[in-house]
Amino acid sequence: MKRTILSALLPLLILLGCAKAPVTGRTQLIVLGPQQEKALGFQAEQEIFKTEKITHDPRYTIPVKRVGMRLAKATGLNLDWKFYVIEKDVPNAFCLANGHVFVYTGLFKYIDDDAQLATVMGHEIGHAIAHHVAEKVSVNMLTGIATAVATAAVNEHVKSNEERMLYDAALGIGSQVGILLPYSRMQESEADHIGLILMAEACYDPREALKFWEKFAKLDQKGPQVPVYLRTHPLSRQRIENLKRWMPQALKIYDECHEKAKNSTISLKKVKAPKSEEALLGKPVK
Ligand SMILES: [Zn+2]
Repeated sequence: MKRTILSALLPLLILLGCAKAPVTGRTQLIVLGPQQEKALGFQAEQEIFKTEKITHDPRYTIPVKRVGMRLAKATGLNLDWKFYVIEKDVPNAFCLANGHVFVYTGLFKYIDDDAQLATVMGHEIGHAIAHHVAEKVSVNMLTGIATAVATAAVNEHVKSNEERMLYDAALGIGSQVGILLPYSRMQESEADHIGLILMAEACYDPREALKFWEKFAKLDQKGPQVPVYLRTHPLSRQRIENLKRWMPQALKIYDECHEKAKNSTISLKKVKAPKSEEALLGKPVK
């Protein structure tokens, strides 16, 4: 009986949850509604405000807002965009589903200018506007349902406890390796693609994204202290190859934007981002 209900529910959920990702146009399975997604973002934000120290140091907040506003405009989405800086020596950043972006002061050690800051922020905004968290939650839910359906089917045939344990282990490993891990890799690659296009639309040179990742690759070889951003965003040959493959598309957008901006108020000059050591020591930024 249980199996019949679950089997009937699965195609219905899949039918309900079809969405399209921006830039790539990939069909996505999202069974979470926009309100539920926003609630997840709000919940996460409350936790961040409780546990992290938000800094108002203009040496960080000004470049983060300057770059963030240009990227937000490039999305064409009217979200409740907000930009926060967390005072912590961690090279990381993230964007919640409600359009609230958080950048750690520790990231500034690794970026040379606004375009490299746009590389990281564009990637994170890419995750948010492609609803990657909602998609992951949906896939987890559906994997859970699919596993329950498979378990119910297996239960009808297994004879001993040992046999059941083996099936359970196989189903668990199968869903981890077969569905959830490739989903993470695919989302990372998609956020890279969206981020690259967003930075070009916002008039930042997309070639800076390659420089940023290649610099990170060198850091990886230097010592055992692998920066957090690299641990969560492993630099593979594939990552660089993909960026090179999307570069002509991004450069075309950048050139058009650059041409338009010549006679407009958009500033194209490179602005140096502050180095976090200097800021934390209270030294003036050059
Ligand atoms: Zn990512």
